Amino acid sequence: MAQRSRDPFCILIACLLSLRTKDHVTAQASMRLFRLARTPRRMLELPRRTIERAIYPVGFYRIKARHIHEICHALLRHFGGHVPDAMDHLLTLPGVGRKTANLVLVEGFRKPGICVDTHVHRISNRLGYVRTKTPGHTEMVLRARLPTRYWSEYNELFVSFGQTVCHPTSPWCSRCPVEAFCAKEGVTRSR
Ligand code: SF4
Repeated sequence: MAQRSRDPFCILIACLLSLRTKDHVTAQASMRLFRLARTPRRMLELPRRTIERAIYPVGFYRIKARHIHEICHALLRHFGGHVPDAMDHLLTLPGVGRKTANLVLVEGFRKPGICVDTHVHRISNRLGYVRTKTPGHTEMVLRARLPTRYWSEYNELFVSFGQTVCHPTSPWCSRCPVEAFCAKEGVTRSR
C-alpha cells in the first residue's frame, strides 16, 4: 500500500484517500494517482478532473481531489513544498484531521502518534482502558495514559484485532486471548 512508501507526501495523500473507503480501493486509487504525480508541484500540474478520474471510486472523490490541490498549494506556499513534521502544522492543511496527521507523523517521520480510528476507539472502551464518547477524546486519554513507546503500534494491533476477534457487532470473546482482563464495556452480544 502507498502508505508503506515512507514518503510523507504519499502517506498524506493515501491517508486522505482512505477516509470512508475500503483498503483495496484506496490502494488501487493511490497507485493510479502516484503513477501520475508524486510531488506537490507535479500534482498541481494535473487538472482536477484528472485527479478525480485517477482516484475514483474512493469515497467523496470530488471533495478529495479538491483537497489534494488545496493541500499541494498550501505545502508550496507555507512549507517549501515539503510535508511538515509537526501536528499543529499538519492540522492547518485542508481536509487533514488528527487521524491523518498522526499517521503522517508515525509512518512518514517515525515520530510518536496515536491514530485513533473506529477499532481503536471501540476496543479501548470495551477493555475499560478508556471511557470516552469520541475518537478525539480517546486519543487525548491514550496520550495521557499509554506509555509513548506503545503509541505507534497501538493502531496496527487494534485494527487487526478488531477485524479478526473484537468485531464491532458480535466480538469473539470465547476465543479472545485477553478476555480475562476485559471489562466488556458496552458488549451486549458476543460469540
Ligand atoms: Fe473484545 Fe470480547 Fe476480547 Fe473484550 S473479551 S477484547 S470485548 S473480544
